[in-house]
Amino acid sequence: MIIAVDGPAASGKGTLSRRLAERLGLAYLDTGSLYRATAARVLRAGDDPHDPGAAAGAAASLTERDLDAPELREEAVSNAASVVAAIPEVRSALLEYQRAYAESPPPGKGGAVLDGRDIGTVVLPGADRKIFVTASLEERARRRHRELQARGVPSIEERVLQEMQERDARDRERSVAPLAVAADAFLLDTTELDADAAFEAALAFVLSSTARSPERSTKKR
Ligand code: C5P
Repeated sequence: MIIAVDGPAASGKGTLSRRLAERLGLAYLDTGSLYRATAARVLRAGDDPHDPGAAAGAAASLTERDLDAPELREEAVSNAASVVAAIPEVRSALLEYQRAYAESPPPGKGGAVLDGRDIGTVVLPGADRKIFVTASLEERARRRHRELQARGVPSIEERVLQEMQERDARDRERSVAPLAVAADAFLLDTTELDADAAFEAALAFVLSSTARSPERSTKKR
């Protein structure tokens, strides 16, 4: 069972994906952390995230330790992540890792949940289930602002909203693998849903939609 979950920042896709993986005995890969780790390496080296050579070099040399770096959730890294993510060489350096993870999840797991921006459209177009999680910009900015405050990080809601809008635009408008809804995705708008309600709706979709043709579910890419 391979589940592709896509959506914009702070839509709730990470929490949802983790819970689906836990409930269904699947492995979970947060693909955003690959782009964040790439951006963090570039920033740490004092390089420019717009520089394709520096960014692709960082993506190609990622290690497990980079994925646990403490600064991955910082706003500077979030913004630089969407800059490096628009560079085709960065995306191709990370593509095989994501596909290999889905095809050979860690031992004991019956498949994988991957979340990101292009999982259902580019990375795993043959995924068994696709979910596109969204929420209004205002609600997503409110969530991110509250999350930053809870972590003790000073934050101004309008600023968070503006940065999120810029990041969304970069993710939607880039020429390679833009954020887009796969034609066969289940659209889940969490603007008015709490995490439990979103999880129940997604789980019901995953468990009910068993009626895909074998031909389609074997078409992996
Ligand atoms: O999901 P998260 O906010 O952690 O992702 C950080 C950035 O990485 C996104 O803004 C996006 O630019 C990029 N990303 C991507 N494709 C993915 C996952 C993340 O381009 N599959």
